[in-house]
Amino acid sequence: MDALEKLKLLGPPTCFEPAEEVHAVGVRQAPGLADDLAGCVYHAVTPGGKRIALLKTLLTSACERDCFYCAFRQGRDVRRAAFSPDELARLFMQLHQQGIVEGIFLSSGVAGGGPNTEDRLIATAEILRRRYGFQGYIHLKIMPGAERDQVAAAMRLANRVSVNLEAPNTRRLQLLAPHKVFAEELLQRLRWIEELRHEMPGRGPSSTTQFVVGAAGESDLELLTTTEFLHRQVGLARAYFVAFVPVPGTPLENHPPTSPLREHRLSQSSFLLRDYGFTVEELPFDAEGNLPLEHDPKWVWALRELTNAPVEINTADRLTLLRVPGVGPKGAARLLEARRHGRLRELSDLRKLGIAADRAAPFILLDGRRPAYQPPLWPLTGRAD
Ligand code: SF4
Repeated sequence: MDALEKLKLLGPPTCFEPAEEVHAVGVRQAPGLADDLAGCVYHAVTPGGKRIALLKTLLTSACERDCFYCAFRQGRDVRRAAFSPDELARLFMQLHQQGIVEGIFLSSGVAGGGPNTEDRLIATAEILRRRYGFQGYIHLKIMPGAERDQVAAAMRLANRVSVNLEAPNTRRLQLLAPHKVFAEELLQRLRWIEELRHEMPGRGPSSTTQFVVGAAGESDLELLTTTEFLHRQVGLARAYFVAFVPVPGTPLENHPPTSPLREHRLSQSSFLLRDYGFTVEELPFDAEGNLPLEHDPKWVWALRELTNAPVEINTADRLTLLRVPGVGPKGAARLLEARRHGRLRELSDLRKLGIAADRAAPFILLDGRRPAYQPPLWPLTGRAD
């Protein structure tokens, strides 16, 4: 099997491993290769805000673990492939020199133990950096059981590293991946990353994790309690939530799929925890600890808390402004700046600042008055802010 054939097998499964903000999928400059690279090249936004064409692939789809949800679990009948570090680095550089890809996301099945697998991921990144002088974006997965020195080596080579927690705690992970050890094998690697970051110039690469949502009976409260802990205690940049999709030939093949809307509401809530000053206790969970699906969580919170206590836009501090639906971190900064030049009196003043004024209107005062506005005929559910 040549390297391109391997990529066609090893690239597309990474669609279940979100890693950067992906805005579109496709191959920008290689119409002849477009079919071969479909599902392997993503237009992604790096942590620094740069848009790049990102090659996403596994190093190998061979795996000795038996996670209940995974297409590559040990013993499942599936066509497998593996790159050597040399082979993948060479292929990446060919695509890079043709202007097709600008960065790489590299994950792997576990073959020969976590540390051996991590060695091969690190070797690939080392070849790219040292032999080929590649200076662009590299995201490396940290394998379950990788050693502390390996985590440090990966961090010296990569712009981002990630550890897949998969579940919010030990009990839930047992129901998904009985041979993964939540605290020692996974969470400890995120703690090391945070410790090592403090020892690195420029604070080192950012870190992310992902959760499989809905296959272990976990509540949104459990997922977001762990997410809040990760943001506050181990400096996590981003938690990704992946709605469970059953895979034929796995123990969970008959488990119902999870609504993508649940994944979306969890993501919105994680932004509220990370960027908006919310605590997990403030989120609008129901009695079972789940979020409403029909409206975004900030809107539901505001209906409860701000309807009778509107926020005066001309005097509120930044964190209070961020509580208003339609006002995100950029909007709050623009409001604070605009207030230095005069009072804001009309919804049109907010629109000029890029604020979603119709979302904000039921919850604000403008110069002491509730703004006149036309309530929408249907709920405004799409926005995260
Ligand atoms: S370790 Fe990764 S590749 Fe292996 S079965 Fe589990 S999820 Fe799949």
